Amino acid sequence: MFDSLQDRLQSAFTSLRGKGKLSPADIDATVREIRLALLEADVAVPVVRDFVASVTERANGVEVSKALNPAQQVIKIVNDELVTILGGETRRVRFAKTAPTVIMLAGLQGAGKTTLAGKLGRWLKDNGHSPMLVACDLQRPNAVQQLEVVGQQAGVTVFSPEPGNGVGNPVAVATASIAEARRTLHDVVVVDTAGRLGIDAELMKQASDIRDAVDPDEVLFVIDSMTGQDAVQTAQAFADGVDFTGVVLTKLDGDARGGAALSVRQVTGRPIMFASSGEKLTDFDVFHPDRMASRILDMGDVMTLIEQAEKAFDADEAAKAAEKLAGGAFTLNDFLAQLEAISKMGSMSKMLGMLPGMGQFKDQIAALDDKELGKIKAIILSMTPAERENPKMIDGSRRARIAAGSGRQVSDVNQLVTRFFDASKMMQQMAKGGGVPGMPGMQG
Ligand code: GDP
Repeated sequence: MFDSLQDRLQSAFTSLRGKGKLSPADIDATVREIRLALLEADVAVPVVRDFVASVTERANGVEVSKALNPAQQVIKIVNDELVTILGGETRRVRFAKTAPTVIMLAGLQGAGKTTLAGKLGRWLKDNGHSPMLVACDLQRPNAVQQLEVVGQQAGVTVFSPEPGNGVGNPVAVATASIAEARRTLHDVVVVDTAGRLGIDAELMKQASDIRDAVDPDEVLFVIDSMTGQDAVQTAQAFADGVDFTGVVLTKLDGDARGGAALSVRQVTGRPIMFASSGEKLTDFDVFHPDRMASRILDMGDVMTLIEQAEKAFDADEAAKAAEKLAGGAFTLNDFLAQLEAISKMGSMSKMLGMLPGMGQFKDQIAALDDKELGKIKAIILSMTPAERENPKMIDGSRRARIAAGSGRQVSDVNQLVTRFFDASKMMQQMAKGGGVPGMPGMQG
């Protein structure tokens, strides 16, 4: 996602590098390139127009700053404007004062609603709630069964139509589910609704009937990020037909150009609240406009990385590791534990892609997949406990033995040992409170 936009924006900034001062002509040329980049990414034309106007105005008005060079100033302006079009502040779910909170999902068929219901259920559960998923998509064959499956995977209760719950009537199912949630003390109800392949009046009527029956606290419009220019029309139609309080972008893992993501907020005036980026239940997170903007600008998404790391690392283990690090006693066992935590966090390439400046290493990162991780693990596991505790003792003959034991080359072992020493140097610097070394723009 956003790959070509990222490249185009980077090249727009390149021409500003090394300039001591911004002339109006420099600004013009850069803004022209930004405009083309956004149009190519399929961003809606009115959104591009506003964006470019704001950037031009601000770039012409900037005071000569001693702290930032002209290229950095323009990047900062573009970053701020991206944050603005993505919605500014992070918008959290509004929970009802009296349970249950009702969250209704709406969108076209295939947008990813049912998958999202499972992800949302799991997320709610992880955040201390007791959610119930409600199967009101009675149109698509198997949708009810699919919801039951994702509910089971997420470990969340699913309420489906049965005699007495209004078989065949989504409004009756939705209504019955609220009473059931009250009775069984579920504090959040997530209502999955039917979608059509295209917008039609019947779809809108059914969705608005359900909305009227359950009076949801949030109506989330679910949209496939790969939709392109159509996204704007679809969003508008749902805004008019059902109205919604927030947007969920799905399939952000795809290689679409990203226009829908960048347009939908401005076009509908509704905030993007969540983003889905894969088929697994955990490929899901609250949407943070500022983090997404810095990801588009390839400044990395260090905050998301840190949060994911916090989730994956055991708090006690992390505290112990931090203590060790401060004392400079980081061992290969710790390194292995770290790698395992990383593999728990999701695919390596996705993680590394969040680090600043990594855009230029895309190809190498893609090669560093979970298989590669497995190889590293095999090498460490072929070491003796003493070697893992004290890697400095791993000399030439030990390296040859380890290589033979793990079925790798000596050069692989060498590379791993070097990587370990680099990592341990970095960890020590971080433990001393020096922040993340080599990561620009993260001060404060
Ligand atoms: P619904 O018709 O709106 O309920 O859509 P589904 O939940 O059935 O999703 C349609 C297809 O998209 C399914 O094959 C899902 O596995 C897939 N899908 C949903 N969300 C994502 C996502 O974030 N990334 C990817 N790659 N696939 C997704």
